[in-house]
Amino acid sequence: MTTLQLGIDLGTTNSLIAQFIDGETKLIPNRLGHFLTPSVVSMTEDGTILVGLAARERLSTAPGHTAAAFKRFMGTDKRFHLGNQQFRAEELSALILKSLKEDAEAYLQEEVRDVVITVPAYFNAIQRQATQQAAQMAGLNVLRLLNEPTAAGLAYNLQEKPDNTRFLIYDLGGGTFDVSILDYFDGVVQVSASAGDNHLGGEDFLQALKHCFLQRCTELSKSDIEKLNLQKDIWQPLEIAKRQLSQESEVDISINFEGKEYKTRITREDFQQASSVLFSRLRQPLERALRDARLNPEQIDGIILVGGATRMPMISRSIVQLFKKIPQLGVNPDEAIARGAAIQAALIFRNQHLDEVILTDVMPFS
Ligand code: ADP
Ligand code: MG
Repeated sequence: MTTLQLGIDLGTTNSLIAQFIDGETKLIPNRLGHFLTPSVVSMTEDGTILVGLAARERLSTAPGHTAAAFKRFMGTDKRFHLGNQQFRAEELSALILKSLKEDAEAYLQEEVRDVVITVPAYFNAIQRQATQQAAQMAGLNVLRLLNEPTAAGLAYNLQEKPDNTRFLIYDLGGGTFDVSILDYFDGVVQVSASAGDNHLGGEDFLQALKHCFLQRCTELSKSDIEKLNLQKDIWQPLEIAKRQLSQESEVDISINFEGKEYKTRITREDFQQASSVLFSRLRQPLERALRDARLNPEQIDGIILVGGATRMPMISRSIVQLFKKIPQLGVNPDEAIARGAAIQAALIFRNQHLDEVILTDVMPFS
């Protein structure tokens, strides 16, 4: 029996697990058949723990028993209340990891133990240690903690590029924005600059879409709007509409509120206008990363988009404007990190299908 070569992207919004097998990466579906498991934990009235989509749905129906976006608090003393029980961020992360482990075991029909887990490049020693502890609580052995941008680089075969290749990793997830510049030289990938905004992501674009909808939906009175609850009444239709707008130039959004249906058409143009402040905020970390690495946009060899929110066409457009280069495509942006982590696991086991580079991930930050 060969050793399983597995990588986990433990994300703020979604987590996933991938396997390197037969010379390529494959995502492992969870018990629902989905590749993405929402990083949400909920406790039911009878004390049962729910993880993933079932928990995500309870963010609206049982917010006091449900926790999300806890990755931001890894290694802190913050306590999350799920009913009358308290959890630390690493305990909640452990529940996510355990769920991924169990689902992968059911799918692979094998015990899952050794994994590569990714962390943001800016995670400090305490946050990394908290991630290790979460893995331990979940019964996993961490082969290596890998920086997320490095994982994205591996998913795009940075390890097979000529020396001195420079990639810019543009990662816009649900609630965080990270820009990293990777340098590849002599078998070593180095994060040479990293900048970001810890409170900027797809959720903010959802808020922008909400404002846009409320402005246009004139049938809703001011007092209705005050009573509307984003999670409960409109999260679902807005989230669907936001994704549709990545494909189509206009969508109809309809919500049910107090027994009545409210419907409005929103164009991509409207959405883009409502998001203009967010676009200027996306610009700053890019400029900072380039400045810190002392590079001009022309000196970047490839731009890699990571994170589900980069599926919005306006993101690639803004990158083309700045870099005069089309971002690399080929790997789904919300899957790249997990796939790269699985490649790292394969490199650790010196998989015969990959170059025998000893890949090191160097972090210049403490
Ligand atoms: P994280 O890194 O935070 O765990 P992901 O990379 O999974 O998160 O990204 C989640 C975000 O991506 C969510 O805000 C979601 O709405 C957004 N997203 C996913 N698919 C699309 C799409 N097709 N169009 C626009 N946004 C999308
Ligand atoms: Mg992510």
